[in-house]
Amino acid sequence: MDLKGVNNLSKESILIVEDEEKIVRLLEIELDYEGYETGKALDGIEAFDMFLSQKWDLILLDIMLPGMSGIELLRRIRGKSSVVPIILLTAKDSIEDKVSGLDLGASDYITKPFRMEELLARIRAVLRMSQITIPTSPIDDEWIQFSDLRINEKTRDVFRSDLEVSLTPKEYDLLLYLLKNKRQVLDRGQILESVWGYDYYGDTKIVDVYIRYLRKKIDANHETALIHTVRGVGYVLKDAT
Ligand code: CA
Repeated sequence: MDLKGVNNLSKESILIVEDEEKIVRLLEIELDYEGYETGKALDGIEAFDMFLSQKWDLILLDIMLPGMSGIELLRRIRGKSSVVPIILLTAKDSIEDKVSGLDLGASDYITKPFRMEELLARIRAVLRMSQITIPTSPIDDEWIQFSDLRINEKTRDVFRSDLEVSLTPKEYDLLLYLLKNKRQVLDRGQILESVWGYDYYGDTKIVDVYIRYLRKKIDANHETALIHTVRGVGYVLKDAT
């Protein structure tokens, strides 16, 4: 098994939203060094697109942005029922922005210019907090959410990027199993046993066939694939390569 690949799965991802390229570059270097995966957006509109297109563990959000202010962006993100932790980067004299930012659900803020050590400490604290609280969708108890994939366990409704996906019962069972074990590499035998039961023991080809069906419905026409093959082992549901 490719252990390096598996370890990478647990890398936490941080979206840097900041229009000053010097600060962005500095943050990228520091966060990369600390073992985080980073993405960047230089204006509010790009940032909102990036927020929608993949799952982030944390967003660093500058308030003074071209295109759309950080506060407006924060409002839109929370409007999507997202609970992603957000740390605001604020100018020294914008107390009102800090207050409205925290009112709108920012996790914390830090005043520019900041010391990198302090920012890193806050990032760690906020990420730790977010792991203790709600791991699934805040929308409704019955919804399980991962990236832009949502499954309702009661109604068996499946959505990807807000588009409804129609699955056969077995496809649904398989997807639910992958989702409940997201980011874990699952071998074919394990999947077979859990989804099909002991009757099919040994005939793991059926897993490959159904994974192919699922991919057509879940991943085709989407920029980010969620179902990944782990060569020689099996499959994993994850949102980063
Ligand atoms: Ca700025």
